[in-house]
Amino acid sequence: MTSKPRVRFAPSPTGYLHVGGARTALYNWLFARHLGGVFVLRIEDTDLDRSEARHEAALIEDLQWLGLEWDEGPGVEGPHAPYRQSERLGIYREHTERLLREGQAYRCFCTGEQLEAERASAAADHRPQVYSGRCRGIAEPESARRAEAGEAFAVRLKIPDHPLRFHDLVRGEVEFPNETVSDPILVRSSGMPVYNYVVTVDDALMEITHVIRGDDHISNTPKQVAIYEAFGWKLPEFAHLSTILGSDREKLSKRHGATAVASFREMGILPEALVNYLALLGWGAEGGTREIFSLEELTREFRLERVTASPAVFDWEKLHWLSRHYLKQAEPARVEELAWPHFAGAGLLPVLETAGPDVKAWFAKLLALFLPAVSQLDELPKKAGFIFGFDVGAARANEENAAVLATESAQKVLSAFAAKVGAQDGTVTPEQFKAWMNEVKAETGAKGKGLFHPVRIALTGSHSGPEFDKLIPIVEEGSRLTLPVHVASVRERVERFFAE
Ligand code: GLU
Repeated sequence: MTSKPRVRFAPSPTGYLHVGGARTALYNWLFARHLGGVFVLRIEDTDLDRSEARHEAALIEDLQWLGLEWDEGPGVEGPHAPYRQSERLGIYREHTERLLREGQAYRCFCTGEQLEAERASAAADHRPQVYSGRCRGIAEPESARRAEAGEAFAVRLKIPDHPLRFHDLVRGEVEFPNETVSDPILVRSSGMPVYNYVVTVDDALMEITHVIRGDDHISNTPKQVAIYEAFGWKLPEFAHLSTILGSDREKLSKRHGATAVASFREMGILPEALVNYLALLGWGAEGGTREIFSLEELTREFRLERVTASPAVFDWEKLHWLSRHYLKQAEPARVEELAWPHFAGAGLLPVLETAGPDVKAWFAKLLALFLPAVSQLDELPKKAGFIFGFDVGAARANEENAAVLATESAQKVLSAFAAKVGAQDGTVTPEQFKAWMNEVKAETGAKGKGLFHPVRIALTGSHSGPEFDKLIPIVEEGSRLTLPVHVASVRERVERFFAE
């Protein structure tokens, strides 16, 4: 390749950035970065009824969160500005005039009813529902006169009478017979140009060399090819990425759970985990089964030739596996800051800005203990909830707990343990706790689960959980802090358990 490749991500700000769009953005970004090319962000907001500034702002925030910065586009501008289609209407108008002048396009005066009747009769005869081309034959002076007289018209492209071909880097040579493509509308009678038209004009003027996008656009591509041909422009390379499916092999949608990038952020999945996961949705590195890739490694390894044409299935288990990997790897201070709002939101911690250093230091220990147990940060308040308190009645009533507590041996263990706790003031250390358990073991003859499970239920409400060595200091230290919810000490826990 002689000149630098130029690619673009061209979202319509009509909703949130979802998994499919984010993967398209990522593949474009990786392709550009791998080859030292240019990544353009273009906002396709010609659908004025559905485009909203808040969606554009959210899209930008999501792309920035993923780390996919653009070289040209809103905020950075560049040689082909403006990068918002609503600000390029004059450019499209000039190009429409050129096509009309050169006889590549024509004014179509057909009314909605006429077109509807055509469609109905084609359907009745089982013919393809392509526009008849009725207005193609109107001579230019006549057409200009009617337009001048104020008659409403759309502008249509003359589809050439040869098959429309393009090269797709994922699918190979693609050909559409021209008979299946209506003379497409370029500009509606309202004066608004349509997607297929503006996308082509912009891709050409912005010197896009590779159009990488979802395969939901593949049926648009022949129309776009015809537009390139009408202007005499060189075709770019195309790469249509396969559809993303849910676990039931239906097109991924909200039914399958979260699909918006913002939802993953809110759940507490790190951007590097999502980026790594999205990269694997339809691409794999050369000759390997490797699955963990940083953005830098992806940039080095990414090749469009290794993108598969078969649909990718969204796999939560794999995303969670990657998420756990990256949460474990991340700087603790970063994870603390991200995890904090989940606890503050649950009313367990004060807002971060008002928390003292002692609370922060305590939370760091708590987090280190519970982080390995979660796949996303929003699971933490529930996992660690018992530290802040638990319902003794419910813990006693829980079937498995009740079976443990009902034995005579458990009763003995608990009273022996309670006697030790009651006999001594001051903070309980892990060493002290261990010594007590050894004494209780000697006094009651209980051991293993029979010894530990009743005590664990009394202190935590559950017979399983983190090691006591780590748990005891967190409970004891927490009990001395001022928090929205009082953390009961070991002593307070034992008292409460017996009181209820
Ligand atoms: N604006 C289109 C969309 O959001 C993308 C068009 C394209 O990539 O060609 O689906």
